[in-house]
Amino acid sequence: MAFARGDPLAWALSACAVLLVLLAIEHWRVVRSQRLLAQRLTAASTQLEDLRGHDPLTGLLTRAEFEQALDDAVMASERDNAPLALLHLGLDGFRSINEAYGHAVGDAVLAEAAARMRTALGVPLALSRLGGDEFALLLAVTADEAADAAEQLLRELQRPFAAEALNLRLGASVGIAMYPAHGARPRLLGNAAVAMRSVKQLGGGGHAYYDAAMAVDARDRASLLQALRRAAELGQLQLVYQPKVDARSLQITAAEALLRWEHPQRGTIGPAVFIPLAERHGLMDGIGRWVIEQACQQAATWRGLGLRMRVAVNISYHQMRRDDFVDHIAATLHRHGIPPGRLTCEITESVAMEDTVQTRAVFERLRQLGVHVCIDDFGTGYSSLACLRRLPAAELKIDRAFVTDLDSSERARSIAKAVVDVARTLGLRVVAEGVETEAQRDVLVALGCDELQGFLFARPMSATALALWAERDELGEGAQPEFRASLFDPTAAMPLA
Ligand code: C2E
Ligand code: MG
Ligand code: MG
Repeated sequence: MAFARGDPLAWALSACAVLLVLLAIEHWRVVRSQRLLAQRLTAASTQLEDLRGHDPLTGLLTRAEFEQALDDAVMASERDNAPLALLHLGLDGFRSINEAYGHAVGDAVLAEAAARMRTALGVPLALSRLGGDEFALLLAVTADEAADAAEQLLRELQRPFAAEALNLRLGASVGIAMYPAHGARPRLLGNAAVAMRSVKQLGGGGHAYYDAAMAVDARDRASLLQALRRAAELGQLQLVYQPKVDARSLQITAAEALLRWEHPQRGTIGPAVFIPLAERHGLMDGIGRWVIEQACQQAATWRGLGLRMRVAVNISYHQMRRDDFVDHIAATLHRHGIPPGRLTCEITESVAMEDTVQTRAVFERLRQLGVHVCIDDFGTGYSSLACLRRLPAAELKIDRAFVTDLDSSERARSIAKAVVDVARTLGLRVVAEGVETEAQRDVLVALGCDELQGFLFARPMSATALALWAERDELGEGAQPEFRASLFDPTAAMPLA
């Protein structure tokens, strides 16, 4: 059949054909985009599923998944009468890495730590990042084997971490809870955490099995913390002072302020107990300020009495991190009319050697101010000579651990000698702490130490006792060493006001 040109029927039919083609194309486009959408949805929900069960940073199980794995493992252990160990691991020193270098470096360290844990022990029943810098592992092993596993993990984590061209060192603390000896299913994870914290309290870098006494300690600590928050305002904190003496003349050159807490029920509590607590809960900055204020006030009082020794304060990590730390010291010294050269800041080696821009800036600003800087507990950290040379410190204090063994151990003598040699090379003064016997004193003097401190000369005492001791000395009573001004040139004796 032929259509004549301009035939309306022909025109309508061809229009329909075009419309059909267009509809078919549109339908194909919709189907294709729906298929793509469905593919994307499937991929996204698989990813979501993965993320729900795994920590996105480390790829380890989340806490919820770990709890599920723990349920399964407990059932299997009961059914097969098989051993089951839960290890709770906390990284030591991670917080300071995060604070000093930022979260990107912190994240890289966490991911690397997780990777090492994953390969360190074959295939654990479950391995989880519980949150922050805390991890948990389930192992089907006996108590002895769990301790070996903990030590293996510690060794893995002690190797340096390379992150963004930095070479960082960490440690770890591990708490072990065996099922069912150390707790029923609902308590097992919490008990392993209590054991881990007790290791941290003792300085970290080790493992411990859960012990019921630890849980009491944890409750105890909570009530201690409550009381500590109010200790300063209730006047329960005190400073005692321990003299440093010149190694040759035995004259007193300085007094180190040491914190004590006079607890109304428990009596005197030492700093080793409450300072870690204060540091962990953000109280150390306020307490540190209080120490500086009191020590400067005391220095002014002694100055008024004609006593001319330097006063030393211990500085914690948290104080060093504050931007206004040096300004606060300058203002306090000024308010009490104390020349900056009369103050020593004792900063532990581990804090001093964190080679951050901030640490070096604080040292430099203290030096500019004229405050004397001492590196405390020297020999216990990981000092590099290069790092030590960059710090404008004036004094190294050999840690007590080396002094204790001096008269009996050749190795301790070699270490003390090496510290004195390092100090000499860098032009630093050397102080030895914890001197208890005359034999130790003789070795230290022979090695060339400049100043000594320890129970052999004086125990820490109240400021009043120290002043009375000095007065007796001036009157010629007793055989105490004489007080004199500091030996150190840059901060030498100031004329008394
Ligand atoms: P440190 O600064 O190294 O102080 C020396 C510690 O050794 C003091 O313990 C002192 O009493 C003790 N000691 C001194 N001579 C001897 C000795 O001959 N034999 C023995 N066995 N021990 C001796 P203390 O007062 O318990 O202080 C412990 C640590 O607490 C201090 O170590 C210091 O790191 C910290 N600390 C004390 N007061 C403060 C403070 O005001 N602020 C900060 N941030 N830390 C403080
Ligand atoms: Mg000290
Ligand atoms: Mg010390």
